[in-house]
Amino acid sequence: MKYLRGVGPQRAAVLEEHGIATVGDLLSYLPFRYEDRMRFTSIAEIVPGQVHTILAEVTGGGGSTVQFRRGRGAVFYLAVRDKTGLMYARFFHGGYLQGKLKDGQLLVLHGKAELDPYRPARREMVNPQIETVSDGDGSPADSTEMGRIVPVYEAMAGISSRMLRRIIHGVLQNFDGRVADPLPREIRERYRFPARREALLYAHFPPKEENLELLNSFRSPAQLRLIFEEFFYYQLALAMRRKREHDRAGVAMRVREDKVRDALKKILPFKPTAAQKRVLAEIAGDLEKAYPMHRLLEGDVGSGKTIVALEAATIAIENGCQVALMAPTEILAAQHYLSARRVFGPAGYRVELITGGRTKAERELAGLRVQVGQAQLVVGTHALIEAGVKFDKLGLVIVDEQHRFGVLQRKRLIEKGASPHVLVMTATPIPRTLALTLYGDLDISVIDELPPGRTPIETRWSGDTQLPGVWEFLRREIGRGRQAYVVYPVIEESKLELKAATAEYERLSKTVFPKLRVGLLHGRLKNDEKEAVMEQFRRGESNVLVATTVIEVGVDVPNATVMVIEHADRFGLAQLHQLRGRIGRGKEKSYCILVAPKTIAGESRERIETMVATSNGFEIAESDLKQRGPGEFFGTRQHGDAAFSFAQPLRDREILELARGEAFALAENAEKAREVAAGLESVNPSWQRRYQLASVG
Ligand code: ADP
Ligand code: MG
Repeated sequence: MKYLRGVGPQRAAVLEEHGIATVGDLLSYLPFRYEDRMRFTSIAEIVPGQVHTILAEVTGGGGSTVQFRRGRGAVFYLAVRDKTGLMYARFFHGGYLQGKLKDGQLLVLHGKAELDPYRPARREMVNPQIETVSDGDGSPADSTEMGRIVPVYEAMAGISSRMLRRIIHGVLQNFDGRVADPLPREIRERYRFPARREALLYAHFPPKEENLELLNSFRSPAQLRLIFEEFFYYQLALAMRRKREHDRAGVAMRVREDKVRDALKKILPFKPTAAQKRVLAEIAGDLEKAYPMHRLLEGDVGSGKTIVALEAATIAIENGCQVALMAPTEILAAQHYLSARRVFGPAGYRVELITGGRTKAERELAGLRVQVGQAQLVVGTHALIEAGVKFDKLGLVIVDEQHRFGVLQRKRLIEKGASPHVLVMTATPIPRTLALTLYGDLDISVIDELPPGRTPIETRWSGDTQLPGVWEFLRREIGRGRQAYVVYPVIEESKLELKAATAEYERLSKTVFPKLRVGLLHGRLKNDEKEAVMEQFRRGESNVLVATTVIEVGVDVPNATVMVIEHADRFGLAQLHQLRGRIGRGKEKSYCILVAPKTIAGESRERIETMVATSNGFEIAESDLKQRGPGEFFGTRQHGDAAFSFAQPLRDREILELARGEAFALAENAEKAREVAAGLESVNPSWQRRYQLASVG
């Protein structure tokens, strides 16, 4: 990279930090927006409320000033003019602009025009995007930035959009005709895609006659092709992997036999919902096949995934196999252990628990019973994947809250059996399209209905000044026999002035609820302490449980109907939803009270408002994805493999579906698929590396 014109070692390093190591990577760095700079709006033509691109020069005299306001950072004011008039731009947090702009410098400003509320005659833009197009000393604008549809790139620290444009333009100038294009010809023709070379040229520097709206919605033929391609190769990697899986021999189970039906009937504690029946049928269908199942079971919190997992386990056990159920926390593992014992009691299966919190002796004894095949189900945390844990005949692996585990952890557990069937479960319901990209080599089952008799949770937002009323409400509900959670974001008091669980526990139990029994649960308690606290709460021996987010996953106490979350603005949306999922599990009406100052703004306000507006996990996941982007949502490290250069699963879901269809069809012909995949090397070696890493579920 450093040998490219305009790059050099320093910028090469910056590019590399952004994952751009080759010319192929650079060309995959597409503009996120396009501006029509063939004709600018003049200042006189500005219509308040509309987005404009204008060309104007920095003007002195009452021009750029910075005002510092306490608590809000610097506000930078800038005056610009063109032949038709004067306009102001206001930048919040714009202190960095001070001293950067000179009188007479020519700028392109892009943003929404507004009228100054105090001086209605004044036109202004708030936080417009600006770009210098000449340096005020008469040096002319580059041909890449004027008189055309101009690509705008996401700037990097030390490399502006403008520099990127020049660098990429330089590369495209020397772009010879021989650009490899391994995308199969039939596919190119079916969708009338332009050739790869044309697509890249168009997407970076569209011709004048291209439709700006189409470009900015990423729907020009060139962009469509590039988006398709990116999904296609990723899906091809997944499809090829799945094909290989299907060629592997697994244990075909018999599910239509009387003894299996009888066993299932025996264990079911309630009538399953239609959705639970449907997903069980899907799972059973997989278990019957002679290759291993790889299925993701998605369902909102409280939708009843556990019993489905135990039903699947029953089928495996009746087929003479052992089952492993792995959960991310001690609390959850212990809870699964208890419910499995209860559910499996009538069937007479033996259940073991293996977690880091148990003594070595206990663990060894449990391990031994698993190893010799005495135990049919073993429940545990990641302690299950330790080398010492061996199975007699592991036929089914179930991973709960699978997003909490790394790919390798799951793999290590799976390798303890000979191609066992695999069921992974998640309570972070994500839209199907996104699930396809993230876990594209998994089949997906969705529980889209809650068990009957649930009353919807009422969620309220209380200001921090309304706390006394909140506690009063808690007392009333507890008086009616209910239990409550009070959740804090941190364990110990910190500089952040957040209320900490331990200190609040003291205060709540001594002064606010002196007559009630209050428990405290956080991650730093010893495991047996945690279990004891949880058990007390489960049995109804404590009324209030003060906790950190350790209760986030899986905890199931139907009599707990109130949850107060303090500093609710500090939590992410998915996390709030998971927390709230701890209540609303019984027949009684439940209440979630989010405590946060009424003055909060921006994304934290949006999050709280979303929580109040809906309790549908799918809607919440989608909203969260829009706010944070998929990378953040899933924690980039674990799912970095699914990060695309410019394709966006949510925006481009139709294209994803098409690409997936084509890729899976191609993978049926193993030889041809390998050929196409090998061609990827010449298109973008980084992609090739990335896709080999793609998730295995
Ligand atoms: P999740 O999908 O979040 O893991 P759980 O499996 O913990 O949900 O189920 C939540 C609660 O609903 C549990 O108390 C469970 O016993 C109950 N439940 C699940 N399915 C049904 C059903 N079909 N009818 C009644 N209650 C059910
Ligand atoms: Mg669960």
